[in-house]
Amino acid sequence: MFDALQVTHLTKRYDTRGVTALDDVSLSVQPGDFFALLGPNGAGKSTLIGIVSSLVRKTSGQVKVFGVDLEDNLTLAKQYIGLVPQEFNFNQFEKVKDVVITQAGYYGLPLALAKERTEKYLRKLSLWEKRDQPSRTLSGGMKRRLMIARALVHEPKLLILDEPTAGVDVELRRTMWEFLTEMNNAGTTIILTTHYLEEAETLCRHVAIIDRGKIIENAPTKTILSGLNQQTFLLDLQAAAITPPVLTDYDCRLIEPNVLEVVLKKNQSLNPLFQQLGEQQVQVVSMKNKTNRLEELFVNLVKHPDGVAI
Ligand code: ADP
Repeated sequence: MFDALQVTHLTKRYDTRGVTALDDVSLSVQPGDFFALLGPNGAGKSTLIGIVSSLVRKTSGQVKVFGVDLEDNLTLAKQYIGLVPQEFNFNQFEKVKDVVITQAGYYGLPLALAKERTEKYLRKLSLWEKRDQPSRTLSGGMKRRLMIARALVHEPKLLILDEPTAGVDVELRRTMWEFLTEMNNAGTTIILTTHYLEEAETLCRHVAIIDRGKIIENAPTKTILSGLNQQTFLLDLQAAAITPPVLTDYDCRLIEPNVLEVVLKKNQSLNPLFQQLGEQQVQVVSMKNKTNRLEELFVNLVKHPDGVAI
């Protein structure tokens, strides 16, 4: 079986500024996968997605989508891909339903089928009620959903989303996660770029981290998370402490008079920690994970030599 996406020795230099945005990148995405491409700003994520969706011209290397080399059969490769870019790039004066129907036309769908699919995806994305409104009247969250409906109208095998939930409120983000999970369960391969590490951890089975045009980590999410060697917790204390409690074997500090930060090494249990706190009459009211675990890894991985993370 072909990989959903196979990128081999891909390099992109922007001649205008002499920037190497992608430096010999190779990666593959399996059919049916839910794949996250993570990286700080300027890492090369949009460039990579741009090349795969034929919006950006590569300098060298090869891209295949379901076995089809973009250079050999771009039309077929494009049929396989649905792209949801970051910016709203539909005609804002067109009615919601027409934005989707017009897109279907680009892919050569007969009008009856285009209308049928438009209804199907506008309904799925809770936009059917808005179908006759000019798209510029939609809220930001609705516009984003319209972008997704438009990307799905030709029923692509590979859906690529560039920062799908950037600037989207928490509730809509959850709804979108459910929708994408449903699409993925139904067999669509999904690649997304994200700054929200929680998004990658919650949704994606595979994570690749890109930094300064190079892939620095590429593994199943589970493998990456099990490789983490520490977690940081914040403990809210019932009463303010003047000095930090003395904890044998634990690395801790007071970051506020009643908030204790504790770093737990891999395999270290919380039980002795609570026991020691109890012995010192320190009561813990609540506890939370300071960063999500992927975030900790991410910060460690992209810590640059000059000491600045991300
Ligand atoms: P990301 O999506 O991870 O934020 P980009 O792919 O947008 O990263 O950018 C990667 C690098 O390429 C950055 O240094 C960026 O400034 C540069 N770059 C992106 N697009 C262009 C362009 N059209 N012309 C010149 N440089 C660009």
